Amino acid sequence: MNSYTPQKYTITTFGCQANLADSNTMAGILESLGFEKTDDFKESDVYIVNTCSVRQKSEDKAYGLGREIKILKDEGKKVPFIVMAGCMVGSVTGERQRYALEELQKKTPWVNAYINPHQIFNLPQILFENKLINDWAKSKFDPNQVYGSQSDNKHVFINISLGCDNFCSFCVVPYSRGAEISRSKDEVINEINHYLLRGFKEFTLCAQNVNSWGLSMSDKFDIRTGSDQKLPFADLLREIHQIENVEKIDFLSSNPFDFTNDLIDALKLPKISNYLHMAVQSGNDDILKKMNRRHSVSDFIDLVNRVVEVKPQLELGTDIIVGFPGETEAQFLDTMKLFEKVAFKVAFISIYSPRKGTPSAKLYKDDIPLEVKKERHARLTKVWKDSLK
Ligand code: SF4
Repeated sequence: MNSYTPQKYTITTFGCQANLADSNTMAGILESLGFEKTDDFKESDVYIVNTCSVRQKSEDKAYGLGREIKILKDEGKKVPFIVMAGCMVGSVTGERQRYALEELQKKTPWVNAYINPHQIFNLPQILFENKLINDWAKSKFDPNQVYGSQSDNKHVFINISLGCDNFCSFCVVPYSRGAEISRSKDEVINEINHYLLRGFKEFTLCAQNVNSWGLSMSDKFDIRTGSDQKLPFADLLREIHQIENVEKIDFLSSNPFDFTNDLIDALKLPKISNYLHMAVQSGNDDILKKMNRRHSVSDFIDLVNRVVEVKPQLELGTDIIVGFPGETEAQFLDTMKLFEKVAFKVAFISIYSPRKGTPSAKLYKDDIPLEVKKERHARLTKVWKDSLK
């Protein structure tokens, strides 16, 4: 009797929900090729490291895996085929490179293949070229039949678009995930129906900015917060809301610069979650301008007041950067004041660190001493935590 042992894969994911959704899709691809999941990469045949570039710390974690691979090699143990995916690869490939691929290759000699977030479906070809799957498995592979493998049995993250065109000056995403490309409505709805048939009932729609889903480049920069302009994303929410068996719809993230009345209106739908994540980044208008954000502090406060008016039970989450270049004590205090005016249930407060190749790293000197950044971080965190009591 023939005994067949399937090949194994492991995926380590760093970063945000978009990466998590990509990892689930890569797991789906590998499982459709006959691979089985293992949590221990030392047992795996294929090890995917899905990286994040948002902070240096996240990149350092990925670099750190090289030490573990070296130990395996030194001990003469089996080393899996290693694929580096995600934003670190996106930053050095594609149309918007922050630095050269060779630089990443030099720092990660233990990696066998690199794929950026737009190249996930190249995996079967890469595995075939490296003799990890045979011609038959490759020819049977149908990208239209791949759905993300989910660890949860009720809730699914669904990427509705990839990339970003906003170029906030501190941010790597427009480089690491490339130009914003919306998936079609049919693809999104088909994916939701696929999961409904398998008993999933809660969906989080993910994008760097869900509000601009389905908009052309020129329309996207025409949209103004608080205007009566129609948003395809609001229609998408309405359409998903009508699907029977969908119980809850979440979305991540919305920006405050293109949140129109149409979208505010859609929030009233009962299946739309009571949590809204909207990054404000700073409580000072001059800093927001240097960050290339297209909203003012008063735009943000007005918007919050209006969404809370239509959905009083709503809980808000936000992202803040302290210690942006040139941030004075008075400008920082404006951010502290914002926390007195707006109740944030969730706040991701980060210390600014320049990311190579971004506009803020090129244009501004990182002139706030680390101790001052840390002290501002601690003060703001305390104000936020006190507000939760
Ligand atoms: S909207 Fe700004 S902060 Fe968000 S991903 Fe795009 S560039 Fe980055």
